[in-house]
Order: sequence, then structure tokens, then C-alpha cells
Amino acid sequence: MSDNELADRGAAGDADRLTGVARALLGWFAANRRDLPWRSTRDPYRILVSEIMLQQTQVDRVIPYYQAFLERFPTAAALAAAPTAEVIRLWAGLGYNRRAVNLQRAARAVVEEHAGVWPSDVAGLRALPGIGPYTAGAIACFAFERDVAFLDTNMRRVIHRVFFGPDLPSPTASERELLAVAADVVPPDEGWLWNQALIEFGALHCTARKPACVVCPLGAYCRARPAMAGAIAATPKGVRKKREEIFAGSNRYYRGRAVDALRELGGASAEIGIPLRELGPLVKSGFTEADLPWLRGLVDDLTRDGLAAVAEDAPPYHADGVDRPESGFARVRLPR
Ligand code: SF4
Repeated sequence: MSDNELADRGAAGDADRLTGVARALLGWFAANRRDLPWRSTRDPYRILVSEIMLQQTQVDRVIPYYQAFLERFPTAAALAAAPTAEVIRLWAGLGYNRRAVNLQRAARAVVEEHAGVWPSDVAGLRALPGIGPYTAGAIACFAFERDVAFLDTNMRRVIHRVFFGPDLPSPTASERELLAVAADVVPPDEGWLWNQALIEFGALHCTARKPACVVCPLGAYCRARPAMAGAIAATPKGVRKKREEIFAGSNRYYRGRAVDALRELGGASAEIGIPLRELGPLVKSGFTEADLPWLRGLVDDLTRDGLAAVAEDAPPYHADGVDRPESGFARVRLPR
């Protein structure tokens, strides 16, 4: 997008403005950056682990998991060679368990299809299983120092506010527009610093509900600033509570409980699995036989996502030898 085009639609604006924004943000970052473990490495595997964990999980919670995970699986080769069940067990407490499986799939693809050499550009990284546009951009930038643009929630919010105006009660710019501006504002040869700064600024300063507009280094450049307080006041609160209420009883809630129950299996059960009808009460309170088809569907979904496996050996008490998965005799365990 040219400067003229940007000016026409009121977005990023002229080169001086872009330079001003970049200097102000990088100055703020130099004074306020947190010393996070993934900021001291350029190892693409470690960057990937951090980025996958940081999806949906707060920084403070991620740090101990990140360290424990890398202690157990210090390289992509170590992760690729591990039983999937072990990876899922180590993920306990982080939630969104598919991330653990996707992480291992990406590591296995690098080891098995790329001889252990990570692609360094966005297109190559996106071709790895489970890696979307944000993560591919983050690895290209944070491991290989490419000057690329990508947007997570924090970055998207800052770009929207500075270049388009308030994002509340709802965004006015499309993802395509935001990405186009984000690509234009990456200072040449400073992509690593710039993108780290953008993430940090969105996390600590220009937060969703309490942006510090009064003492903001970007205030002079920010299109949202004059209207931000009013936009926040006009946006209803309580969204988080509602989300939590919706979560209890949601499909994701029951999936999480099922994986938790499979993680807890010990001894022979971890190997041969647990019958569906015994798994049911661990997943849903008030579980009855009538819930078996529903539970089987849930387990099939988990199996497709690599988070569960239906044991193939027929149990001895499976009297007629007919495979009737909804009968509740099928045994389920974590994948090997
Ligand atoms: S002035 Fe307010 S809305 Fe704009 S970047 Fe700063 S904190 Fe964010």
C-alpha cells in the first residue's frame, strides 16, 4: 500500500508519521520490555513452543510450562520422538490440548520431511502442520529476524487504534486493512524489535479496557486517543463472565474433561484404555447410558484431533464380537 493510498483511507499516513510511531514505540519498549525467556533465543523450535503456548494463555502462566516443556523436550527431535501421550500429559493445566498435538506434528514434520532444518520464510513455515499465519510470521520474525507483519490480539488492537481509531465497541477496519498497514509500519531491519514492541505495548500499555492514553508515547500519532475513553465507557462490561458461563457445558469443556480423565489413567488402564461407560461419569455429571452415543461422538472428535485413541483390542466381555461403539465397551486411552 502506498502512502497516498494510506492517506486516502486515513490509515497509516505519511513517512514522517510512520517514523515517529516507530521511534516512539521502540523507545517505550527499550524502557519497559519484560525479560521473557523466549526473547533471548533465536531457536525456531523454542520460539514455536512459546508461540503455541501463548495462544490463549497469559504470559505469567506460560513461563513455568515453557521451561518444564523444554527441559523434557529440549529439541524438535526430542519432541518428535516422544509418545504423544507423554506430550499431552505434560500439557496438563494449559488447556486447549490440540496445541500440544499440533506442536508435536510440526516438530515431526521438520524432523521427518525437512531433515531437521526449519523453513525460514512464512510460506515454508505455513506449510508445516498446525501452523497458521500468525505463528508462521512470528517464527520467521523472532527466529530468523525477517521483517514481516503478523497480528495477534494485542498487535491488532494497537494497529487498529493508532491507525484507524477506536476498536470498541467493535473494530471498523478489516483484517486485510490491518495487515496491510502492519506490513507498512515494520521499520526496515528492525522487524524483531518492532513486533516484540507491538506485542508488549498491547499487553502492558494499550490494553483492551484500560489503555493508558493520558501518558502514551504514541498519543500524538493515535487516531483513537480523542475518542477512546468514550468508546470504552459505551462498551458493555461483563463479557468475560458470560464467556465463562457459556464455557461450562460447552463442547470444549467436555473435551477438556475427557482428556483430563485419560491423562489420569495409570497402570494397565493407561495402556489398554478405559471403557466408554466408565469414562462417561468422569466427563459429565449425571451421565447415563443414554449419553453413550454423545460420548462416543466426543471421543471420535478427540481421536480425529490426535488427542485420544480407541483401543483396537476387543474386550473379553464383548460377548457377540460385534463392534458396536455406542455400546460403551470400546476402550479409550491417550494416543501412543
Ligand atoms: S493513545 Fe490510548 S489508544 Fe492510542 S495507542 Fe496510546 S494507549 Fe492506545
